[in-house]
Amino acid sequence: MNHLLLDVNIVVDLCVARAGSPNSLAAVALAREQGFQLWVYAGSVQTLEYVVASELRYARQKVGDALSGNAVRQLARQVLGEITINCQWLAALAKEGAVFADEDPEDAQLIRSLERFTAGTARLLTRDGRMLERCGDAAITPEAFIEQSLQNPSKPKFEFIDLKTQQNAIRPQLEQNIHRVLHHGTYIMGKEVELLEAKLAAYTGAKHCITVASGTEALLISLMALGIGAGDEVITTPFTFVATAEVIVLLGAKPVFVDIEPDTCNIDARLIEVKITERTKAIMPVSLYGQPADMDEINAIAAKYNLPVIEDAAQSFGATYKGKKSCNLSTIGCTSFFPSKPLGCYGDGGAIFTDDDDIYQACREIRIHGQSRRYYHTRVGVGGRMDTLQCAIVLAKLERFDWEVEQRLALGQRYNELMDEAGVQRVQQRDDRTSVFAQYTVLVEKRSELEARFREAGIPTAVHYPVPLNEQPAYQHLCCADCTPIAQDKAQRVMSLPMGADLSLTQQSIVCQALSKLF
Ligand SMILES: *Cc1c(COP(=O)(O)O)cnc(C)c1O
Repeated sequence: MNHLLLDVNIVVDLCVARAGSPNSLAAVALAREQGFQLWVYAGSVQTLEYVVASELRYARQKVGDALSGNAVRQLARQVLGEITINCQWLAALAKEGAVFADEDPEDAQLIRSLERFTAGTARLLTRDGRMLERCGDAAITPEAFIEQSLQNPSKPKFEFIDLKTQQNAIRPQLEQNIHRVLHHGTYIMGKEVELLEAKLAAYTGAKHCITVASGTEALLISLMALGIGAGDEVITTPFTFVATAEVIVLLGAKPVFVDIEPDTCNIDARLIEVKITERTKAIMPVSLYGQPADMDEINAIAAKYNLPVIEDAAQSFGATYKGKKSCNLSTIGCTSFFPSKPLGCYGDGGAIFTDDDDIYQACREIRIHGQSRRYYHTRVGVGGRMDTLQCAIVLAKLERFDWEVEQRLALGQRYNELMDEAGVQRVQQRDDRTSVFAQYTVLVEKRSELEARFREAGIPTAVHYPVPLNEQPAYQHLCCADCTPIAQDKAQRVMSLPMGADLSLTQQSIVCQALSKLF
């Protein structure tokens, strides 16, 4: 139960202090304290304005102060604006046309709006006896809410990555974008796809952007566009999400794993050159935890051997390297819009970036089954498009993204200071680049003990990643055992803490206190 829909009578109580209303104020204050999301039904705006204006006029008349109808309505709108500022508007949807069969269509519609939440997670806060009767368990009075909350306080849940606050902040734009797609109906390759590609290209500074079905698909299509296949080798890091190596193996090529730097956990550029053979066809560094690797050094080695470089930037969209944006640091950049990535959608999505016109053309064709025009297949491709709805969602999120990146940088910096003070080892960042902290990761001993204690304290943690890819059952036959000792060591010790643009300073302090107490 974490959503509370405020009935008209409750909102009016909040706007005009009336006899009998203290309970409404106390109930709403308590709900906020306990992390409930407050909602107001959008279809009741007119009633709200009318009732609040009447109440205000009456209150003024009592003290001999007669306001004009216009002045009083203006005052009502102002008060309503202030009172509902931290509430979410629950969209008014027609449902089956049956509302007019009800003797109170507005009430009927409001009750139906509750059905938009998962059953049992939302209630109507009301003082209206008829509503209480009609809604049963789904409605509650302020008095009952206060009593239940005090007896059984619900603690705000500590999320590893908080996506709800973001959703609340951008809901109007999100709903508008989603509904536009529902109305124009071009679910595949709708105009939002091209619009997003243009915006993402402009953001990164890359000449071209091709949206695709996921971050994994972005990597796969990039390798296909470069013609990588059976017998080829691709140099990469073993300390990454499995997709990085998976796509290489899927194409019949071989991942050649190079160990990582002990401080950043990114691929160690100094170890790359000795691994280059005549079969090497690409170098694929990963911008781990949101921080680009030593791209200048890697690009220089690649140039010497005439190799393309693919940046797996699934975790680093928004980061910079020497002033340039991640995804635009090498031949190709690939990112992911998986919901929990720094820029996410509400499903799967990803994008490829490049300045190279031929690679761009190849990626575009491969994305749609290798067709150069409809039903003419010039090459073997995949069904790899990102759908219009997901693009519409990323477009809505993009408007807040600059602010989110700033927040991430500031929170990451604060985490760093707190960890250094507490003497906790952490992943380091270099001065010439930024991390967007897809993960904030520390290095600990006795990790499983710490994880258990954090769990008890209600603070979520995660491990990225517990086993380097060259030790995974599906991949170990492809490479030497024990050839990446640093990755092996870090895999035993890394632990990621709650992070995200909407992490509060209080939450961050709670995490740090818990950690220093356990150390
Ligand atoms: C998430 C991730 C991917 C895969 O992205 P999906 O969109 O989930 O397919 C690839 N590489 C890295 C490093 C990732 O973190």
